[in-house]
Amino acid sequence: QFQARGVETCFHGRHISPQIYAGLDGNNWSLKDYEARGGYQALRKILGKDGGEGMTQDQVIATVKESALRGRGGAGFPTGLKWSFMPRQFPGQKYLVCNSDEGEPGTCKDRDILMYNPHIVIEGMAIAAYAMGISVGYNYIHGEIFQVYERFEAALEEARAAGYLGDNILGSGFSFQLHAHHGFGAYICGEETALLESLEGKKGQPRFKPPFPASFGLYGKPTTINNTETFAAVPWIIRHGGQAYLEVGKPNNGGTKIFSVSGDVERPGNYEIPLGTPFAKLLELAGGVRAGRQLKAVIPGGSSAPVLPAHIMMDCTMDYDSISKAGSMLGSGAVIVMDDTRCMVKSLQRLSYFYMHESCGQCTPCREGTGWLWRMVDRIERGEGKPSDLALLDNVAENIMGRTICALGDAAAMPVRGMIKHFRHEFEHHIEHKTCMVPAYV
Ligand code: SF4
Repeated sequence: QFQARGVETCFHGRHISPQIYAGLDGNNWSLKDYEARGGYQALRKILGKDGGEGMTQDQVIATVKESALRGRGGAGFPTGLKWSFMPRQFPGQKYLVCNSDEGEPGTCKDRDILMYNPHIVIEGMAIAAYAMGISVGYNYIHGEIFQVYERFEAALEEARAAGYLGDNILGSGFSFQLHAHHGFGAYICGEETALLESLEGKKGQPRFKPPFPASFGLYGKPTTINNTETFAAVPWIIRHGGQAYLEVGKPNNGGTKIFSVSGDVERPGNYEIPLGTPFAKLLELAGGVRAGRQLKAVIPGGSSAPVLPAHIMMDCTMDYDSISKAGSMLGSGAVIVMDDTRCMVKSLQRLSYFYMHESCGQCTPCREGTGWLWRMVDRIERGEGKPSDLALLDNVAENIMGRTICALGDAAAMPVRGMIKHFRHEFEHHIEHKTCMVPAYV
C-alpha cells in the first residue's frame, strides 16, 4: 500500500518538478537510471572529473549560500551558512549526518526521495562532505519504513561499487564513507541532538544547547546535520549554479520545496513546486477540496505549525516568509487540509495526544504540560469542559513555550494557541452545549 502511494505521489510531483522528482517513474531509482538523468555530474564537476578545473571547498559553500537554500527539515536555516560553521581545520574526525527521521504528522516526502531517488541524497551528501572536509557520514532513517532503509542500502552498494563513495573517490584523493542507520520510530529522534544520542547507541533524548553540533556533535566531534530534502537539492545547485536555483523560487526562499498534501483533498500526495507558489495553486494541483466541500482551515507546515483559517491561507504563498507573516510556519512542508466537516476540538484532541505520547519526559514543562493540555482538550471534546478551561489551556501553553530543552514543548503548545485563537467559538460551543457545533462531523 505504501509503495502504491509513493509511486503515485512521484507521478504527481514530476510534472511540476525541475529538480528532485524530475523524470521519476517509480522504478528508475538505480545508479544506471540516475546517471542517465545527469546523476553524479555535480560530484564530477567539483572534483574536476568532467574536464573542468573542479571547485574548491569555498566555492562549493559560496554556491550553496548564493542559492538561498534553506533547511527543508523544518527550521529553514540557511544551508550554506550552516556549512560555513563547520571548523574545517579541526584535526580530528568530523561527521556529516542526514536526518531522515521523518516523523512529523503529515510529512511523507523524505521517504519518497529515499525510495525513488536515493542516489540524489548520496550525491548531495558527498558534495557536502567534500565542501566541509568530512570523511564519514550517516543517514539516520526513520524506523518502521523498512523498505526505504533497504532501498537506500542497495543504492549505497551501487555507489560504492562505482567509486562514488569510499576511498579516493573517482581518483580525486577525496574519501567519504557513508553508512545507513535504521532508527526505531521515536518522533523525538528527529530532533538533531536526540538523533545524535540515538546514533551513539544511547536513549534518544535531546541535549542541552549550546554546545551546538557544529562544535560538539556525534561522539563529541564537529558535526553537520541536514535534512534529506536539503541534501537532495544540492546536486542541482552545483550543476546549474546558485543563482539559477535562487531564481526558481523567490528572494530568501530559493528553489523548489516538496509539500506533502494530506487531509480533505481529492489527490493527496507529494508535490514539488517552486517556493513562492500561491497556496491556491497547490490546492488546485491536489485536486481541490474533496467532494466540492468548503475549505475551512489548513495546517501549513506539519502538526507543530499553528493552524490558519481558509481566508488567511488563500492569501498566502508557499514559502517561509509568507507563512511566517501569516502567523504560522512552513516547517517540514506538511500541508494538512481541513474542510468544513472538521471539528477543531477533535483535531486538537488528536494532536495533543500525539505530543503527550512523544514527549521524552526529560523536562518538567513538557512532560507534565503536554499531559495537562491533552487532558483538558479531551474533556472539552467529551462535553465535560469548564468555562475556565480556555484561559487555563492558554496559560499552560504559554508556560511550556520557551521553557524546555528542545522544541517539542513549543510544538505541543503552538497548535493549542493557534486553534483557540482562530476557532475559539468552537471550543466555547463544546463547553456550553456539551456537543460539537459542526453538523456534518462524523
Ligand atoms: Fe524531552 Fe519534551 Fe524536554 Fe524535548 S521538550 S527534551 S521532548 S521533555
